Amino acid sequence: MSAKKSFTRRGPDRTPFIRRSFQAAFILLNLWIGARFYFFVRYYESGGQTTFVGRPPGVEGWLPIAGLMNLKYALQTGTIPEVHPAAMFLLVAFVVISFVARKAFCSWLCPIGTLSEWLWEGGREIFGRNVQAPRWLDIPLRSLKYLLLGFFGYAVASMAAPDLHAFITSPYGLVADVKMMNFFRRIGTTGAVVIAGLLVGSVFVKNLWCRYLCPYGALVGLVSLFSPARIRREADVCIDCAKCAKVCPSLLPVDRLTTVKSAECTGCLECVAVCPAEGALRLSAGRSRAIPTWAVAGTIAVIFLGIVGFAQLTGRWHSNVPDAAYRELVPAADSFAHPQ
Ligand code: SF4
Ligand code: SF4
Repeated sequence: MSAKKSFTRRGPDRTPFIRRSFQAAFILLNLWIGARFYFFVRYYESGGQTTFVGRPPGVEGWLPIAGLMNLKYALQTGTIPEVHPAAMFLLVAFVVISFVARKAFCSWLCPIGTLSEWLWEGGREIFGRNVQAPRWLDIPLRSLKYLLLGFFGYAVASMAAPDLHAFITSPYGLVADVKMMNFFRRIGTTGAVVIAGLLVGSVFVKNLWCRYLCPYGALVGLVSLFSPARIRREADVCIDCAKCAKVCPSLLPVDRLTTVKSAECTGCLECVAVCPAEGALRLSAGRSRAIPTWAVAGTIAVIFLGIVGFAQLTGRWHSNVPDAAYRELVPAADSFAHPQ
């Protein structure tokens, strides 16, 4: 081993703790939103017999298609939509975060990403390893999420602004969030089998849903390709221990790359945290110095809180749907078909 490749032990890295704190905070935030939304729906379903709880606009983070439709509508008309505007602001926040910090929405914030991570980590604890699909299967499977993104993207792109407005303000669009919750509350056999299959599969395969099927992940992954921030390896300092590749949840061969350009990199920084050679691996923009984890965390928080705060302070965060409409539509949500 040459002198420049001498082993350098680094101090403890707090990256995993910081990232997992963000994941936990976002899980708690979503549970709080989900509980509030449930009581909001129950109020209208019960004809006002239960305690009224205001609708949390954050629930629209689970309506990415509405976010995409509203974003197109806003760009085309210069008008912020009155129904599900939070879906658009959250989509923009997650896209900006993923541009700045490498698809970080998936590994720092997304509750599904966090659940997936817990499942495959649990599987590795129990069975000692995770299953990795062979390359000939992995590559076509990974393209599925882009096909789904293409389908939704095409559907939204082919709609003119009046059509987008008509869709979002239709009974179906107004209570799309209620319909989504009802899907899980009154799940049928097929839906239950599919979800159970994904949950069980996620125990064995790392990030099964995120890697192969999530169109949201596909979108932010494509955005991250244009990000100036990348994981970079200094071959002169690297001691070829391959720990970075072993820990990478996206199965990237970090130890053999000088720059990680893949759309699968989620900016989780686990590779940087595990690297034992000082200066061998870093997240950086170009040849600049390493971007520290606290800066990544701070940037994610500032973008998220900044965009949500802007929407709230300018009065554009809440859907403008009258109480009378919810009284009529929420109890009948399941009866509304998808507008043509
Ligand atoms: S390359 Fe590093 S930052 Fe990117 S997904 Fe793999 S471990 Fe995470
Ligand atoms: S963790 Fe990766 S970058 Fe760091 S020394 Fe080992 S092989 Fe090199």
